[in-house]
Amino acid sequence: MKRILSIFLLIAVLLVVIGLSALFFYKFEGSPPKILRLSMPERLGRHAKISLTVADERSGIREVLLVLTQKGRQEVIFHEVFPVDRLRGSAVREKSFEISFEPLKMGFRSGEALLLIQVTDGSWRNGLKGNSLVAKKKVILDLEPARIVVLSNLHYLVPGGSNLVVYRLSEPVRYHGVRIDDLFFRGYELPSYPGACFALIALPIEKKSVSNMIIEAVDQAGNKSNLPIPYYLKRKHYRRDVIHISDGFLKRKIPEFLDRYPEIPHTNLLKAFIYINSVLRTKNNEQISKICRQSRVDDFYATKALLRLPRSATRSLFGDHRTYYYGKEKIGEATHLGIDLASVSGAPVPAAAEGQVVFADYLGIYGNTIILDHGLGLFTLYAHLAGFTVSEGDHVKRGQLIAYTDTTGLAGGDHLHFGTIVQGIFVDPIEWFDPQWVRTRITEKLEMVKASQKGSAGL
Ligand SMILES: [Zn+2]
Repeated sequence: MKRILSIFLLIAVLLVVIGLSALFFYKFEGSPPKILRLSMPERLGRHAKISLTVADERSGIREVLLVLTQKGRQEVIFHEVFPVDRLRGSAVREKSFEISFEPLKMGFRSGEALLLIQVTDGSWRNGLKGNSLVAKKKVILDLEPARIVVLSNLHYLVPGGSNLVVYRLSEPVRYHGVRIDDLFFRGYELPSYPGACFALIALPIEKKSVSNMIIEAVDQAGNKSNLPIPYYLKRKHYRRDVIHISDGFLKRKIPEFLDRYPEIPHTNLLKAFIYINSVLRTKNNEQISKICRQSRVDDFYATKALLRLPRSATRSLFGDHRTYYYGKEKIGEATHLGIDLASVSGAPVPAAAEGQVVFADYLGIYGNTIILDHGLGLFTLYAHLAGFTVSEGDHVKRGQLIAYTDTTGLAGGDHLHFGTIVQGIFVDPIEWFDPQWVRTRITEKLEMVKASQKGSAGL
């Protein structure tokens, strides 16, 4: 009996020992948590953001602490504690944090600082305090936004007009440009004008008022700076025009579209025209706007007035507001977003300025169309062409033959529809054809930058 009892006791003791060892093994585990991901910009700005993912597979995350130190200053930028169950540990096995803080408001200065990340798990080690991972990382605080100096003046704005803003920034930035209310015009740097920034701006023809015009820059650390600049808004009157659509025109023009665009209503020619003149027109203009939003060439070539189609008569102006009639019935309205120039049939079309061919294809109401990129977001468009003598990607010189005029697209007779587009906005080519306008709005500003680079003052 006594012997049986001692065997039981031995087994009991063994079970307790095994149990305790298992508990020790699990609850006193000695592996610290891991940082799975730490991402932050190279430079931390006034509104700093850090993404952090931590994990602990065995006893879970108990605590996450981030401390920033710089020359004796020490601030907790993030601290979170999770509940730990004595037996089961923390339920948080893996977690991501998006940490935002404002170093300037905490009293830090621009320069080097040390980021300390401490992550603790739910283990019983270290007097039940858990295993800790401590990571230290050197960071750069950049708390000063770029300073902006405006160099240009004469910022006249007219609906459908263009202009050039020139400025200088105190440091390299992520992006910069000019904002007019909700429109943003990207700023560019040009290799021959180091240190200066150029933003071609434009007002859409339908925009009649401006409440705010600023130069905006966001530096590498995300610090935003802006500078309001003076402008003078001028009115501009555009013409109204009436166009009568005849059966002959419909019969001649509509089949070309029906073949290419199956979505056009095929039931009758007039319905097809109405669709083409409204839905397709809008679609085509949006496509052009998209192509012309950003320059791919890194120079600016339109430093002289744009070249007009030689020996041509002006048939329609930019901004003409057209009302279309079929008999007495009003069948639509549209704004003419270019200038119509008529010469002889099949007249050779020269490039208006040096540039790169970024589009040479059929484009709905515009028919066979070429778009040239002249830099700084300035584009010229040539529509209703016969075939092309250049192709996409070609670099063309000012005056170089690029195509011949024709009547492709929605053209009644042989002419060149010529358009100018600034950063996606259709503008009046008349300004760009005018040497005096180009001199005061564009060339003199470029020359001013050149002159101050030669001078000892620099920019
Ligand atoms: Zn036209």
